[in-house]
Parts: sequence; structure tokens; C-alpha cells
Amino acid sequence: MTTRSETAYISAGANLGDRRRNLEHGVASLREAGVLLKKHSRFFETEPVGFREQPWFLNMAFEIETVLPAEGLLDLCQAVELAMGRTRTFPGAPRLLDLDILFYGNCVIETERLVIPHPRVAERRFVLEPLAKIAPGYMHPVLRQTIASLLASCRDTSIVRPYQSGDDSV
Ligand code: AMP
Repeated sequence: MTTRSETAYISAGANLGDRRRNLEHGVASLREAGVLLKKHSRFFETEPVGFREQPWFLNMAFEIETVLPAEGLLDLCQAVELAMGRTRTFPGAPRLLDLDILFYGNCVIETERLVIPHPRVAERRFVLEPLAKIAPGYMHPVLRQTIASLLASCRDTSIVRPYQSGDDSV
């Protein structure tokens, strides 16, 4: 029997502690759990959206390949966030690490704990800008528009700028 793997896209963000280390640690933890990292964007520094009285974020997007089912991938992302010390306070609160599953193949999933495509992909420049660097031609399976086209028509005017780190490896 062959195990089918699926391509998925994840958005990662951090705005507490050593933001870059947190993101690198998040990627390393996913890899240790057997997730294959195929591509990643550079780091972006982004203005908080929603609850604005908090530090700016570092964000990035990555493409992975995994044999985990979507719910299993969510379990893993949440375990990695918790291991990093993240506590759930209120939606939009500052965080050491946030891992959102944007897409899982072309699947459309809606359960109590998991919605894929992530419902706010098209509204968030801090998600679209990094994602457009690695998957501009990916077609949103519900909106039927590519990531490049969603970015071009995104109305979110919050600041998303390349993070000048000199080294974008993770
Ligand atoms: P957040 O605070 O943004 O990390 O949201 C976490 C909550 O969103 C958890 O209760 C998850 O079960 C839920 N959730 C729903 N869909 C997704 C998704 N595609 N990726 C990550 N979390 C999700």
C-alpha cells in the first residue's frame, strides 16, 4: 500500500520573544515530525491587524508535503504552538508562534475546529504577500482566483515589508 502525500500551505507568524527564532523553531519542529518543507518565503515584518496595540509580527509562508490528514496536520501545528509556550488568551492576541493551515491540496473542509481554505486568506496582506512569493499561480479552490490575483485585489492596506535579515534560511 502506498501512502499518499498532500501538498499544503502554512502561514506562520510571531510577535513575541525572539520572533525569528520562534519561526525557525516552528519549522524545525514540523520537520522533526516528518513534514517535508518544499519552499519557504523570506521573512516579512508586518503591522498588526485588528488588535493594533501590540508588537509588529514576523511572518512567512511555506509549502510542505505531508502524509498527515488535514486534522492531523492541525493537531501537529497546535502541539508545536503549545510546546513553544503559546497560551490562548483572546483572538488576535500577541503570540510566540501562530501556524495557520491555508490550503491542503485542493480540499475544502469545514468542521468545528478546522476550516480550509483558511477563511481569511484573501483579506490579509500579511498572508498573501509571503504566499505570492512561493505560490503565485496556486488557484484558491473556492474563490477560483490565483494567489497573485487575490493579492492584486486585496484591500488590506496594512504594512508588509521585507525583513532585512541578510539571511533568509530556516
Ligand atoms: P488562531 O488563534 O488564529 O491560531 O486560531 C486557532 C483556532 O482556529 C483553533 O481553534 C483552530 O481549531 C481553528 N482553525 C480553524 N481552521 C484553521 C486552520 N485552517 N488553520 C489553523 N487553525 C484553524
